[in-house]
Amino acid sequence: MKRIACAVVLIAAVLAVFPSGVRGVDPKMSRRIDEEIEKNKAEIVKIRRFIHMNPELGNREFETARLIANKLQPLGFEVRTGVAKTGVVAVLRGGQAGPVVAVRADMDALPVQETTNLPFKSLNPGVMHACGHDVHSSVVLGTALVLNALKDGIKGTVTFLFQPAEEGAPEGEEGGADLMVKEGALDNPPAGAVFGFHVWPENVGSVLFAPGNVTAAADTFVITVKGKGAHGARPHEGVDAVVIAAEIVTAFQTIISRASDPTDPAVLTVGTINGGARRNIIAERVVLEGTVRTLSEANHKKVRLLMESIVKNITGMYGADFQFEYKEALPSVFNNPELTAAMAPTLVKLLGKDKIVEWQPQMIAEDFAFLARKVPGFYFFLGVKSPAQAAAAPLHSPNFSPDERSIPLGVRILSHLLLDALAGQSALGSGGPGF
Ligand SMILES: [Zn+2]
Ligand SMILES: [Zn+2]
Repeated sequence: MKRIACAVVLIAAVLAVFPSGVRGVDPKMSRRIDEEIEKNKAEIVKIRRFIHMNPELGNREFETARLIANKLQPLGFEVRTGVAKTGVVAVLRGGQAGPVVAVRADMDALPVQETTNLPFKSLNPGVMHACGHDVHSSVVLGTALVLNALKDGIKGTVTFLFQPAEEGAPEGEEGGADLMVKEGALDNPPAGAVFGFHVWPENVGSVLFAPGNVTAAADTFVITVKGKGAHGARPHEGVDAVVIAAEIVTAFQTIISRASDPTDPAVLTVGTINGGARRNIIAERVVLEGTVRTLSEANHKKVRLLMESIVKNITGMYGADFQFEYKEALPSVFNNPELTAAMAPTLVKLLGKDKIVEWQPQMIAEDFAFLARKVPGFYFFLGVKSPAQAAAAPLHSPNFSPDERSIPLGVRILSHLLLDALAGQSALGSGGPGF
């Protein structure tokens, strides 16, 4: 990955956004953040291990949500539970009036059998926090504890969102960030900006971010080619759905290679192809399923239209019928450029320039996109690889094991980002959404 180039540009950009000298956290507040982290560190790591040992799948995060609500309610947070099924929204009002910012953690685990030898490995067979959402939840909870201790000095409000089902809701259920937004998680009080992060197998102490598109829009499709069955030895009496489907799959390849701007990444994958009944029968029906990943809105619109046109024209050419089902599952996570520019100096200040890595957009998907579509968003990646390791296990693997030194660091980063964002919004104009 290319390092740092972006940070320089971003720092230049921030000067245009912020009046000089308006930074949220003064040295005294910064010291207090560090003291509170020191005080709470052991507890936060303990919570992370508990959540890791007791992973729960999407929309079933009952105990995780209970633990979080039980921690925050007695401290005076305004806590709403059962948001988007099992989500928790906890509002912390600072001692002084000001703008509102939100931060989101996802809580769900994956259907993976853990193979680590950790003393706190999953007790739930076949379920594991293999995507690090246990770290996300404990870092955001830790940030809530730290900021709560400092709330008298906070000008504004922080909403802590603990979201279910980032990895997707069970079949037939709604869930995740989309439902959190629909159920008003960002409305009451109305947030002016939203923050989120994901653990990433880069060295502890580094963060990765970039303005603009961070992850891809992920769409899914099901295409049914409807031909006409016949004897396998008398193809002229049928309409062969297998031949037509094969032609469609081949023609699809030209969408990315010939019609999409080569500098704007896109992926079209036909993941399954099913059809036919027997080796000597002309197939009446073939079903193609797959996924489309795009970064830009231009490609997002174009790929779908071209796919439909190819399906319509090829089936039409051979006298077959078709069904084209296309679902826009997840939008692209978009980092608001002004907000990103405003937050870059905070990250440089905390970590040092050499620990800032420019994020290269990836074709993975993340439902934080729904939150960042509702209000300006900033999403970054937190390094969790132990520098002693040559390579870390990737996300979703059964031996994924983030370095826990990232947890107090994550709390420190979020605490500063949120306070600086509150100060930035105040500086930009009286408490309204400033970015
Ligand atoms: Zn994941
Ligand atoms: Zn994840």
